[in-house]
Amino acid sequence: MSRSASVACLVLLCTALRAAEFGWPTSMEPAFTRRLEDFVQPTVSGRIESALFGMTRENGRRFHEGVDIRPAFHDRMGEAADAILAAADGEVMHLNHWTNGPYGIFVVLWHADAKVPHYTLYAHMARISPAIRVGAKVQRGLTLGTMGRTADRSDPIPQSRAHLHFEVGLLLSGNFNRWHDAQAQNRGSKNHHGVWNGQNLIGVDPLPILRAGRADLFEEVRRTPAALACALRCAKTPDFALRYPALTEGEAAGAAGWKIEFTWHGLPRRWTALPEGSPELPKSGWSLIALDRSQRDVLIRRKMLSATGDRPGETLTRQMGILADSAR
Ligand SMILES: [Zn+2]
Repeated sequence: MSRSASVACLVLLCTALRAAEFGWPTSMEPAFTRRLEDFVQPTVSGRIESALFGMTRENGRRFHEGVDIRPAFHDRMGEAADAILAAADGEVMHLNHWTNGPYGIFVVLWHADAKVPHYTLYAHMARISPAIRVGAKVQRGLTLGTMGRTADRSDPIPQSRAHLHFEVGLLLSGNFNRWHDAQAQNRGSKNHHGVWNGQNLIGVDPLPILRAGRADLFEEVRRTPAALACALRCAKTPDFALRYPALTEGEAAGAAGWKIEFTWHGLPRRWTALPEGSPELPKSGWSLIALDRSQRDVLIRRKMLSATGDRPGETLTRQMGILADSAR
């Protein structure tokens, strides 16, 4: 290879890497970001694990979809004073200024320029910077606002536990509102967050991404094994498969449905187009077609399976409902 060609390759490589570069989402000194005990904010239990992603709460019965990062700075009143920073280049998709709700005041960014496009979410903020507007392009490191402790009024966060709840993940459906409004339990309750509602977001563990300093969601999704699979009959391709071609296999055009592999926590990690006549395809709707019995216990705790372990649970039913609705 000529010298100029290798320089050109290097420039291209650097451009590609730059797009995936991922920074720490708070203004904490880098020296504190290396050891878990230096940067996490555990629950009142004090257990470090409770600040991490996974079935880390209430003796493994409650899922925590992100990582909780403690403040490094405080104001005179003792409130957290850290700046919340955009973890990567992206676009502002949603701002929630309401102080009442599970995420409190939060910001959602979308990172479209990736093999697997993804969101980052910054919750429990004290305030959002006035310069941050929906539709604005942001660069990695830009200040989005200030760390805080806003949350649901029924479950307040004390001053001593102020933190950033940080999430990274995939968007389930571009048509979430229609599914939301059709649910009996949502009658009379308006969805204020559009597609950026927590139920329509499926997180991955942010820690390996923060540690690597780059976001390779494809690698992250594929690293987590399949725990079960469903087959869905549908005339139209669910928009998830269109948004994430890197996670799909087979011929989408003319497919009669899809085989969807899920991780233990409900992330649809691999999609395979099923032609008419495939033995897995149900006559209508969807069905559970495969199960890794070694993951049965965590699937039950995550409610991917019913308490008896032989039927789809609440989480899987919701995930499949949201995905199937986008194919109507
Ligand atoms: Zn959290």
